[in-house]
Amino acid sequence: MSLKFDQSVDAALKLVNEHSGHQYFDVLVTSLAQLIDADYVLIGELDLVSHQANTVSLWCEGQLGEKLSYDLEGTPCDKVYSGGICVYPREIATLFPGDQMLDDFGLQGYVGKSLKDAEGKPIGLLVALFKQKDQACEDILGIFDLFAIRASAELERTLWEREQQKQISLLQKKNQQLDLSHRVFEHTNEGLLVSDENNNILEVNAAFERMCGYSRAELIGNNPSMLNSGLQPKSFYDAMWQDLSAKGIWQGELWNRRKDGETYPVWSSISLVKNDQGEISNFISSFRDISSEKALQEQLYHQATHDYLTGLSNSFEFQDHATKAIAVAQRASQHIALIRMNIDNLNMVNSSYGHIVGDMVVKTIGEKLKGQTRDSDVLARLGGDDFALLAGFDSFHRLEKQIKRTLQLFTETIHTESGDISPSCSVGISILGEDAEDLDALMRNAQTALRFAKQHFRGGYSFYSQEFEEQARRHDKVENRLYKALSEGVIEPYFQPIVNLKDMSVHHCEALARWTDEQLGQVSPAEFIPIAESTGLIQKLGELIFNRSVQVFAQLNAELSREQKSSVGVTVNRSPGEFNFSKGERPTTAEILTQHDLSPDLVCIEITESLMIESPDEALEQLNHIKNQGFSLALDDFGTGFSSLSYLKHYPFDYLKIDQSFIRDMKEQGEDYLLVKTIIQMAKNLGLQTIAEGVETEEQCRLLKDLGCDYGQGYLFSKPLPQDELFRFVRDAEAV
Ligand code: C2E
Ligand code: CA
Ligand code: CA
Repeated sequence: MSLKFDQSVDAALKLVNEHSGHQYFDVLVTSLAQLIDADYVLIGELDLVSHQANTVSLWCEGQLGEKLSYDLEGTPCDKVYSGGICVYPREIATLFPGDQMLDDFGLQGYVGKSLKDAEGKPIGLLVALFKQKDQACEDILGIFDLFAIRASAELERTLWEREQQKQISLLQKKNQQLDLSHRVFEHTNEGLLVSDENNNILEVNAAFERMCGYSRAELIGNNPSMLNSGLQPKSFYDAMWQDLSAKGIWQGELWNRRKDGETYPVWSSISLVKNDQGEISNFISSFRDISSEKALQEQLYHQATHDYLTGLSNSFEFQDHATKAIAVAQRASQHIALIRMNIDNLNMVNSSYGHIVGDMVVKTIGEKLKGQTRDSDVLARLGGDDFALLAGFDSFHRLEKQIKRTLQLFTETIHTESGDISPSCSVGISILGEDAEDLDALMRNAQTALRFAKQHFRGGYSFYSQEFEEQARRHDKVENRLYKALSEGVIEPYFQPIVNLKDMSVHHCEALARWTDEQLGQVSPAEFIPIAESTGLIQKLGELIFNRSVQVFAQLNAELSREQKSSVGVTVNRSPGEFNFSKGERPTTAEILTQHDLSPDLVCIEITESLMIESPDEALEQLNHIKNQGFSLALDDFGTGFSSLSYLKHYPFDYLKIDQSFIRDMKEQGEDYLLVKTIIQMAKNLGLQTIAEGVETEEQCRLLKDLGCDYGQGYLFSKPLPQDELFRFVRDAEAV
C-alpha cells in the first residue's frame, strides 16, 4: 500500500470520525467506495428474526441510494453473516444464482464482512460490490477491515442508543400508567385497601379513610380486622378465606364498624395477588358503602309489605308471617285463632264525610288494634275496611273476652273536624285445628263467620260453624239468582192492605217484593233484601218495585174513581242503600207518577231509622225532598232500633209504624201493651198517625183500637196480595 494511499485512508477515516449517526455511515460508505473503487458499498443491519438485512447506508454507482431491505437467503451476504469475511473476485452472479440482484446489476466481484458487537454477536454487514472482475482482491481487505471496525463500533453504538431510547420511552409509558393508577387509586369513590402477605395494611385511599373514619396513618401497619363490626360470625370469615385461597377472589356483603363505633354495610371485593414465584404478595380490597342502597331497599320492602295508611302489615306480609306462626303453633300444640274484623260503616263514612275522614277512621282503628296486640300476634290490614289478627290464646273464655274488648275499641267515638264518628265493626273467628288446618282454610272460615256476624248481628262477632258453610253457599246462590231475576224482571210487588181501624176501610197498601225463582222456589224478602242491600242490587230492585207499584195503583185508582169509590194509597219500602249521598242520588221522583197520572199524596215512602243513624243531615235533606214532591213518609219498624224521639221531632214523618214484635205478644196491661200505649201517645203528641204491624188476632185489633191506634196491617185483615186479588179485595172491602 503506497503512502499516498495511506494518507487518503487516514483522511477518509478522520472525515468519517467527524460525523455521527446516519451521516457517519453515509460518509463511511462514500469514502470506502472511493478508496477501493467499488460500484456499490452498503452497511446493513441484521434482523435475525426475519433473516433480513436492512441497509443503514448505501453507496450506489457514484451517489447515496435509498435505504432498502433484502432477504439474506441465497445471497453471498448469508455466508458473510455466518462466516466472517468473504471475498469473491469474479462471476459472483453465477456463484449465487438465487440472488437476482447480482445479475440485474451486472456484478462480478464481492467483498463482505460481518459487523459484530463487543461480545462477538453479529449485528450487521459491510459489503462492497464490483462490476469489474478481480477488483475484489486481497489488496483491499486491510482497508475494508479498518472501515468494518469503525462501522461495527458505530452500529453497536447506534443500536445501543436505540435500545436506550426504547427503554426510556417504555419507562415513560410505565410512569404515565403508574401516575394514572395512582390518580385512580386516590380519586375513586370506592374505598381501596392494599395489604401485604400477612394482611397488614400497606396503603389505603382517601375514600377508604372517609368511609371508616380512620386516617391513613392510623390504618397502615394494622390488620383490616380492626374494622370488623362483630356482626359476622367466625364461620363467615372462614368461608371468605376458603374462597380467597381457592379462587383468588372473594366478593360479598359485610358489615364494618367506623371509628365512631357506627356499623355500616359494604359491598366488598378482595383479590389475592401472587408474585412470580406463586407466593401471596398482596391483598387488594375494595369497599363500597351500601348504607343508602340498603336503606332504599328496606324502604321499598317496607312499602311492598306494609299498608301505607296504618303502617300495619299488608295481606302479602300477613300471609308470610301467619304461615310461619301457624307452623310454630302446630309444632308446639298451641291454640291459635284467626280473627277477621271489618268496619261495617266505612263506605258510609267515606260517602258522607269524604275519604280523608274515612282514612283517618281506618288509621285510628289500626292504631288501637296495634296497641292491643301482643308481639307474638300477627296483625294486618288486608284492604279497605278489612283487618286480620292471628292470635294465640289459652282459653276460649279469654279469647272471647279479648274479642269483646276489641269490639269495644272499635266502637269508641272518633272525633274528627267534620264531626264525631261512631264506627261499627263485625268480627268473624276461626280456630286452628278445630275449623281449619292451614291459613287458607282459616281465612276462608273466618270470612264466612264474619259474613254471618254481619248478617245476623252487625257490630257483633261470630265463631265459625260448619252450618255457615251451607248458609254461605245458599247466600252465593241467592245472590247469583238475584242478578238474573232482576235483569229478567221476575220480582214483583204484592200488596198488603193497611186498614183504618175506625171504619175498617183500606187506606193504604204496603208493596212487598215477591220472588219465585225457577231453581230456588219462593225466596223470602227477609233473605234476599239484605243480599240486595249488600250487593248494591237494592237500587234496581227498589226502582222496579216503585215503578210497578205506581203503575198498579194508577190503574186501581183510575178504576176506583170511575166507580166513584175513594182512592187507596200505596206504601213503598226504601232501603238506606238507595240513598247514595255522595252521588246525590234520589231514589224517589215524582216523574213516573206524572207519566201514570197518580197523585203523589197517594204514595208513601217507608224508611227505617238506620238511614238517619248513618247520615243524619243528608237524610233530613233527602226526606225533605221527598216531602216537597208531595209524598208522605212513614218510619218503619219503630221500637226495634234506637227509636229516638229526636228523629220524630226533626224529620218530616207522617206515619209511625209500630213493629210487629210489640203486637205479637201484646196483652192488656202487659209490658208490650204499655209500650205500645206510650208510643201511640207520643206519636199523637207529635202529630203523627200510627200504624200497627203484624195484627193477627181480633184481640190485638181491639186493644189497638182502644189505645187509639189509627191503622192496622196484618194477616187478620189480609196477607200481601198479587195485583188481581188486591183489586178484588179493595172492591169487596169497599162493598162492606
Ligand atoms: P217490613 O217492611 O216490616 O214488612 C212487613 C213484613 O211483615 C212483611 O214481610 C209482611 O209480609 C210481614 N207481615 C205482614 N203482616 C204480618 C202478620 O200479620 N204476621 C206476620 N208474622 N208477618 C206479617 P215480608 O214481605 O217477608 O218482608 C220482609 C221485609 O223485607 C220487609 O219488612 C221489608 O223490610 C223488606 N222488604 C220487602 N219488600 C221490600 C221492598 O220492595 N223494598 C225494600 N227495601 N224492602 C222490602
Ligand atoms: Ca215496611
Ligand atoms: Ca215493618
